Amino acid sequence: MGEVQTARLIDGTAIAAEIRAAAIPAVQAFTNAAGRPPGLGIVLVGENPASEVYVRNKVKAGADAGLWVDLQRLPAGATLDELLRLVDMLNRSERHDGILVQSPLPDAMGRGASQRVFDAIDPDKDVDGFHPVNVGKLVQGRAHLKPCTPSGIIEMLDRSGIEIGGRHAVVIGRSEIVGKPMAMLLLQRDATVTVCHSKTPGLPSVAARGDILVAAIGRPGFVTREFVKAGATVIDVGTTPVRDRATVERLFAEGSARREAFAKRGSIVVGDVHPSVADVAGALTPVPGGVGPLTIALLLKNTLAAAEARRR
Ligand code: NAP
Repeated sequence: MGEVQTARLIDGTAIAAEIRAAAIPAVQAFTNAAGRPPGLGIVLVGENPASEVYVRNKVKAGADAGLWVDLQRLPAGATLDELLRLVDMLNRSERHDGILVQSPLPDAMGRGASQRVFDAIDPDKDVDGFHPVNVGKLVQGRAHLKPCTPSGIIEMLDRSGIEIGGRHAVVIGRSEIVGKPMAMLLLQRDATVTVCHSKTPGLPSVAARGDILVAAIGRPGFVTREFVKAGATVIDVGTTPVRDRATVERLFAEGSARREAFAKRGSIVVGDVHPSVADVAGALTPVPGGVGPLTIALLLKNTLAAAEARRR
């Protein structure tokens, strides 16, 4: 039997705390100069339980960093027109430097609603980086506001001393909010990038070419050992709430902390990467406590950057 390797865990909570702490003096300097704190408007439509948690964390992190965070709620039955009117109000507001509309929107708003909302947000206040102008600038390598999750992952790699340039990076997932911008940012940092998706044949062997493997799929434990090159850095973006015992028992060993958390709460958030990958990878991000906290830290950074740019 070969020796079992245990991947170094990348502590996203600690890295995010460093980024947030470093932003505080700049937030104070802005507040002193402008006579008001940087302002972030967060719009939450309906009562999706996962969104409630994400938004609560964003509001708290923003307030802790000294931002003014304005949570605007709309009922689940709100129409797309009502939401667009609220976005228009936030676009015109002097006090709101950043605007974020929490996804997903209720299905009743219809297909394409999210894109219509992204299109409606003032690009200078688009702290999620989803407006087509910002997406275009991202592709050209001159974005001012970049999507928070992929840019948080780049920060995480840099701060963990993991080289990107010249390495082969494989991204599984091609969504507008994670997979595509992730691929662009890795390319800009001189990685050779392969993007995979549900129609990629021979996915495990393609993934196993990656020195850096980013999994942004939304399927608990999908990425097993055969997807991973020995010593690779594996970034687990997936966050799927799991409520069924069989899935938890399939993924996590008896007596493990995750099983205990499930027994206590009846639900846990699970990543895309199977726990056994820790025996093969060189470095790995945990779920929770990996990419998630970075996403929030980068949202604060983007809000500050948007506020500073609007003042100039
Ligand atoms: P998404 O829009 O549903 O996209 C999922 C991607 O995975 C798609 O490109 C899809 O391919 C691909 N995929 C699905 N099944 C596959 C399979 N069997 N083989 C290969 N590829 C497959 O999801 P997303 O918004 O990018 O989010 C992905 C995950 O990240 C979710 O769990 C989400 O909750 C999580 N997330 C976490 C954070 C954070 O801060 N931690 C932030 C954002 C998202 P096709 O395009 O071919 O359908």
